[in-house]
Amino acid sequence: MKITSITCQILSTAQQQGATRYEDTAGLKFPQTTSGSENVFSGRADTRHICVYPSDRSTALIRVQTDTGLEGIGEAHAPAAPRVVQTIVEDLLTPILVGQDARSIDVLWERMFSAMRLRSHTQGFTLEAIAGVDIALWDLLGKHYGEPIWRLLGGAYRLKMPVYSSGTPGQTVDARREGVHKVLDEGFSVVKTSCGRGSFREQMELVRQMSDAVADRGQLLVDAHGGFDLKDAIRFARFLEGLDNVEWFEDALLPEDHDGYRELTLSTPLRIAVGETDCNRYVVRDRLLNKECDLLLPDVCRAGGISETLRIAQLADVFGVSWASHVSTSTAVHLMAGLHVGAATPNCFISECPSGFAHGPFGNCLLKEPLVFENGHITLNEKPGLGIELDEEAVAQLVLL
Ligand SMILES: [Mg+2]
Repeated sequence: MKITSITCQILSTAQQQGATRYEDTAGLKFPQTTSGSENVFSGRADTRHICVYPSDRSTALIRVQTDTGLEGIGEAHAPAAPRVVQTIVEDLLTPILVGQDARSIDVLWERMFSAMRLRSHTQGFTLEAIAGVDIALWDLLGKHYGEPIWRLLGGAYRLKMPVYSSGTPGQTVDARREGVHKVLDEGFSVVKTSCGRGSFREQMELVRQMSDAVADRGQLLVDAHGGFDLKDAIRFARFLEGLDNVEWFEDALLPEDHDGYRELTLSTPLRIAVGETDCNRYVVRDRLLNKECDLLLPDVCRAGGISETLRIAQLADVFGVSWASHVSTSTAVHLMAGLHVGAATPNCFISECPSGFAHGPFGNCLLKEPLVFENGHITLNEKPGLGIELDEEAVAQLVLL
């Protein structure tokens, strides 16, 4: 089964939303603090945090075609400057892969990875582009053998995969409380909320309110987007320990603060989660050796695709560390790719699901058959490859020309 061509389509809502503006990570827009307020210690997130997001939404769909007529579909995380990913796929990865046997996924992965060893290939755009191609190759392999990816990965520990709602929208505490109730009413039992901006007291109050809103209906995950320094992170972890429905504390520190993560993890019984910026097994190895977390958060569309995320998950298991699939502003391709790895690994905790996925512009409207959420779970099936089929007419309306 020889690869004949690879295409990378950028899907974007820019046509509907106008020119791109870059904004803070969504969760850090709140609480809004006014300049000149009494917030003397504003925290680091007001000036430093993990990343920005554009005002519109974009992603990169990658299709690998073969001489058998079969096509595999993958996705690269590409919320900002998606043409960079497109260029890497078209100008770099396509010439390397065309003519190769699409079934040799490990071999092809190493060729793609090695191709950029001299040029900052270890994460970011390059690994995102590789991720998209790798997922397409797995989808293709599944279609070739008529098997779901989870079976090709060695079988499923479970097919009914828990998913959590990625956020609690709203610019006021009351709006966010309502958002929590809405998400719980939709059937989710695990909800993530953001903090990391504003005064320490404001953040405690916000998270306390979110915890109250969830109450005993489920669990709350808390994401600080790298907004604390070590001392405040330890203080905040103490506070979270007192809320009996908080399951993990995510990105408390900037991801580069390795010693800080080690100290934080050793300081609290609360589950410390990090790793959405870690895109290959080598950086994850160092984080694990240094005992920097209890839970890793690799993103299958950033961390080199299904192949590398599987290796990261298996490596984590050696250290007794669990993982949860990070999913961002992307399509069902992303969500499903993570779920297949999750199903095939014994240490997968749960998968993220973009809030409002079912009705969002990249959600079920791009699928011939919508994904079904039941009691906070998505159940994988026997369909080949990723197990989804795109509605090509709906996709075509979002393609950026
Ligand atoms: Mg996060």
